[in-house]
Amino acid sequence: MGEFVMKKKYPRPQFTQGTVNRFGQSRIGDGLQVLNSNARILQPGEFTPQRETMSPYFNQDNLGLNSERLRSMMIERLRREGIKDERVLNAMKQVPRHLFVDEGLASHAYENAALPIGFQQTISQPWIVARMIALACQERIPHKILEIGAGCGYQAAVLAQLVPQVYAIERIQGLYEMALGNIQHAPHAERIHLHYGDGLKGLPEQAPFPAILVAAAGMDLPKELLKQLSIGGRLIAPLGQDEQYLVLIERTGTDSWNRKLLEPVRFVPLRAGIQP
Ligand code: SAH
Repeated sequence: MGEFVMKKKYPRPQFTQGTVNRFGQSRIGDGLQVLNSNARILQPGEFTPQRETMSPYFNQDNLGLNSERLRSMMIERLRREGIKDERVLNAMKQVPRHLFVDEGLASHAYENAALPIGFQQTISQPWIVARMIALACQERIPHKILEIGAGCGYQAAVLAQLVPQVYAIERIQGLYEMALGNIQHAPHAERIHLHYGDGLKGLPEQAPFPAILVAAAGMDLPKELLKQLSIGGRLIAPLGQDEQYLVLIERTGTDSWNRKLLEPVRFVPLRAGIQP
């Protein structure tokens, strides 16, 4: 108990246009356009209560105490929704997702929704985080992994529960700084190496990677990332613009890659360059 604290050491993200939500704390404006993966996002004034959040035992003050129970419910839901890998479910159970989002949204942190993290970006919904990690870790645990699009650091933190070395790149400086603070709330934070930069270039100094996860959707797979994959390695990425699919790439040789199209998804766009 007392393990989770709501106070954070870094400045809150700036939302573009403010609307005070029902908690009177978060300001989520119209700046949000694209949502991460099949997201049901809460628009200003719109609230869809779920059983978890309506619990009489649950309010802003006791969220820290109840978060473990809510996380267990999230795990049960993920299991019902087809995530079978117990290693992944266990990793999701270790990370306090409510400490990676704005305090005003913390009570929604364990729903299967993408949530805004500022800078017009979102934290991916738990299901897609679990799905991508399960694909990367199928039949093995890679000794290191590269994530493109660290966002608030949540997926990197979940990965760190399984993978000894997690490299994650974020192109928006404000989010990179937020992620640096957030990951400290997770066990094994020392396994995470966050970089501020353009993820399209990968991380040549640490390559090759046995697994690469891309958390934002491009029209093509970045060539540099394909080259930084080990032979036998796997890259999982959303592809497309209006219509997006998750793809699984396996590098089969020096110049050969296999590509498998998976389910439709919805991610924020992959962009070139950095945003100071
Ligand atoms: N995995 C994140 C999801 C963040 S959303 C989480 O758990 O919160 C996707 C992120 O990809 C955004 O923060 C966006 O800024 C970032 N992004 C988009 N293009 C990028 C690029 N070329 N390099 C690095 N990050 C990128």
